[in-house]
Amino acid sequence: MTTRFQAAVLRSYEDPFTVEEVALRTEPEPGEILVEIAGAGMCRTDLAVRRSAGRSPLPAVLGHEGAGVVVATGGGPDIAPGVGDHVVLSFDSCGHCRNCRAAAPAYCDSFASLNLFGGRAEEPPRLVDATGKALAPRWFGQSSFAAYALVPARNAVRVDPALPLELLGPLGCGFLTGAGAVLNTFAAGPGDTLVVLGAGAVGLAAVMAATAAGVTTVAVDRHPERLDLAERFGATPLSAGSPGLPERIRRLTDGGAQYALDTTASAPLVNDALHALRPTGTLGLVARLHTPLPLEPGTLDRGRGIRHICEGDAVPGLLIPRLTGLWQAGRFPFDQLIRTYPLADINEAERDCDAGRVVKPVLLPERRD
Ligand SMILES: [Zn+2]
Ligand SMILES: [Zn+2]
Repeated sequence: MTTRFQAAVLRSYEDPFTVEEVALRTEPEPGEILVEIAGAGMCRTDLAVRRSAGRSPLPAVLGHEGAGVVVATGGGPDIAPGVGDHVVLSFDSCGHCRNCRAAAPAYCDSFASLNLFGGRAEEPPRLVDATGKALAPRWFGQSSFAAYALVPARNAVRVDPALPLELLGPLGCGFLTGAGAVLNTFAAGPGDTLVVLGAGAVGLAAVMAATAAGVTTVAVDRHPERLDLAERFGATPLSAGSPGLPERIRRLTDGGAQYALDTTASAPLVNDALHALRPTGTLGLVARLHTPLPLEPGTLDRGRGIRHICEGDAVPGLLIPRLTGLWQAGRFPFDQLIRTYPLADINEAERDCDAGRVVKPVLLPERRD
């Protein structure tokens, strides 16, 4: 069986995406499902491929915040979604290493090879361009900047068909990361205090989750319009350029924040956040560090700690339904962060994302019917 469909292909690290017809020369194998994509969010990690020093093979179909309808399954041992089910796609994991067995799939031993570096090698190639040349598939197990994605059933989370499917994809990565840091890693609740550094998609999802959980939150960003959003979702806004930032955060958090979530990897902001933590406070880092992060003396004194947080420490099958439930209750309005674009306008979406004109672009493939 060959399925031909529209996909956005990245052919070089410098050039725009090209929207092309591609072909999937396969049916789902046991443990796999074929998903007709309703919408796919654009995440910083997609765009970071351009700066990955060539580690991600090209040409490739990126996209790892897909949501859609299951149109075929390969059966198999997993308790897989069935044809017609609505699913949100998340990151890939092996399911049997030590961390997967400990319900920590974001720290899967095979995370990098399964998600970041082109997925599983396939010979003969299953996803090809119009000339028959192989495309790197299975970016985060999905490659969902496309009308269809072949996905390990393990990555798919069934959702209520009453939900706005085309908007749900970012619950599989960006919004999962921010909300999971608050709800899982920090397990923050009423009486807790949090400072969020960087009010992008991840930071604003953290703000929303914190507000839903009754946490007092301060949000720090350079852009006034992002601070306006953070304030709308329940945080006290503070400009990143404010003089005496740690002191101001401490004043707003009853003497110091219990938790800080950094989405910026900016050394001055990380140091400011550590200075603003109360003793025993924890700073979570979600961005990957590309340069050394010097810490000022005293920042880790008195039980303060730092840890990296991947994918919000989430088990997607647990956290995604929790977030859609909060959305249905009006307490996690993630749809307000989204602007949709036709998949054909992916380059405009990337420019808007880079320029900070949109918090979360979601790309909609062309419908054939
Ligand atoms: Zn694993
Ligand atoms: Zn992502």
